[in-house]
Amino acid sequence: MRFKRPTIVILIFIIILFSSCNTKDVTEQNIVFGTVCKITGSSQIPFDQVWETLRNLESKINMNTANSEIDQVNAKAGLEKVEVSKTTYDIIQTALYYSKLTDGAFNPVLGSVIQLWKDGTDFCVLPAPEAIEEGLKHTDINKIELSELNGKYFIYLEDPDMRFDLGGIGKGVAADEVKTLLLDSGIDSALINLGGNIYGMGTKKDGSSWKIGIQDPNAERGEYLKVVEVNDESVVTSGSYERNFIKDGIKYHHILDPSTGMSANNGIISSTIINSDSTACDCLSTACYVMGIEKATKLIQSLDGFKAIFILESGKILEVQGKSNEEI
Ligand code: AMP
Ligand code: MG
Repeated sequence: MRFKRPTIVILIFIIILFSSCNTKDVTEQNIVFGTVCKITGSSQIPFDQVWETLRNLESKINMNTANSEIDQVNAKAGLEKVEVSKTTYDIIQTALYYSKLTDGAFNPVLGSVIQLWKDGTDFCVLPAPEAIEEGLKHTDINKIELSELNGKYFIYLEDPDMRFDLGGIGKGVAADEVKTLLLDSGIDSALINLGGNIYGMGTKKDGSSWKIGIQDPNAERGEYLKVVEVNDESVVTSGSYERNFIKDGIKYHHILDPSTGMSANNGIISSTIINSDSTACDCLSTACYVMGIEKATKLIQSLDGFKAIFILESGKILEVQGKSNEEI
């Protein structure tokens, strides 16, 4: 069968029109880990599997999910070791790696102190100094015992009052898991936004970079101080503009300094880390917030492929490059 030229032109037009309709980005969102999780990308994204992956991870590492693996480890502190999945075991090993790398600024067993600041899941209580002093006695990562036996994995907290709190690493792990799932499903471009913990996979469909706004910590939500462009990288921010309260004129927030048990107050009010490893970004954004300008700058400068944007109390924006990086 032969087509005349006008027919061919019309056919091509219809095909282009059809394929452009078909490639429109779609967004789905759900609440997981107590936060809004939003995925944007092609309609081919297996959204059901994304939510299943996130809920599955939640049932392992979320300390606020009753009977999650971490909840069980916490409940059995000082009593007995608990068998966990390899996923949970590996996450704890990673958390310990970053705790050591940051000289304890990132601490995955700060639960005994963090829970003093909370009423349920709300961060709104100013604990008594004696309570904080007591809580801090149960945050020594050397009391975490990891063991492997016949292909099974176990975690034991030797100290009965010790509690895991993985709020500083969980969303990073979740973003990496979603990214892996999408890659395994043949999707290499998507924007994963798990409560502000962002992964810009690949590039946008038109080949341009993902543009991620860095919240102005002193302005309304959605007002940005800076926009960063990323390809295949995660952008994770820890800020005191999240989960805070004011008491007697003093602002308290949820990023705690493990050396004092108080809200970290070392000159950085927003700490953003950029790298292809979202778990690393999550741990380091929390840790750098705690470490303060000098220590955090040195740490990021010593790491290959990391970039940081620190917003200082003075309002200044400090951009730091890791080893062998191009300009942000
Ligand atoms: P992020 O928003 O990633 O900085 O994580 C903050 C959350 O991690 C808090 O809400 C706590 O659950 C937990 N957290 C607070 N301070 C620390 C810390 N110094 N190290 C590890 N986790 C922390
Ligand atoms: Mg974090």
